Amino acid sequence: MKGDNKPVPLSILQAKDIERFWTLVDRRGPDECWPWKGPRFPGYFPKGKRYFKEGYARFYVTRDGKCYSLRAHRVALFLVTGKDPGDLFSCHSCDNVICCNGLHMFPGTQQDNMDDCVSKGRQATGDDAGPRKWITSRPRGEAHYFSKVNYASVSLILSIGRDAIAAGRALPGRKLPKGLVPSIKASHPEIDLCTAHIARILRRQIWQYVPMPADSLAA
Ligand SMILES: [Zn+2]
Repeated sequence: MKGDNKPVPLSILQAKDIERFWTLVDRRGPDECWPWKGPRFPGYFPKGKRYFKEGYARFYVTRDGKCYSLRAHRVALFLVTGKDPGDLFSCHSCDNVICCNGLHMFPGTQQDNMDDCVSKGRQATGDDAGPRKWITSRPRGEAHYFSKVNYASVSLILSIGRDAIAAGRALPGRKLPKGLVPSIKASHPEIDLCTAHIARILRRQIWQYVPMPADSLAA
């Protein structure tokens, strides 16, 4: 029923469901994350927030002609530990939304989930941030739905702006050399980006994972 958010009791699972469930999980070592290979819930922008929240792994079960859509990590917790999270969340201790290793989960409230994250100092940043750690589970760069540019153009922009970047003129608060961005636009009309976007690439605020191209390309 629409709007009925009561969690489905996981006791509805039967042996054949459980067998099918594990065919959808890439089971690895006991300490590793076990990525989900099946469908996902759609991702979304939480209300008022600017970040994209990835969809959880989704497991469908048909029982008595009714289709149930379960969160796969809840099922994983249940199958591995025997605990049905019920009204609680199944919290990932590994921060990987598609992980289905039941040992990486614990039943808890939303607050527990946040506390766990904070206590481990794992409000992920830098190379630990989700999009870097779980590259295959999160589209980024040109694979991202919003991408207007590709790896090659970013590399090209960086190579043209190399001197300015090296001189620190692309740092926040510093002025890029006058005419640099317009000249990139003029000489490479195929790069269909606004000046602000190009400036953000030069300032390395976006596309940070694209390395500075080798000198030989700069000419
Ligand atoms: Zn995990």
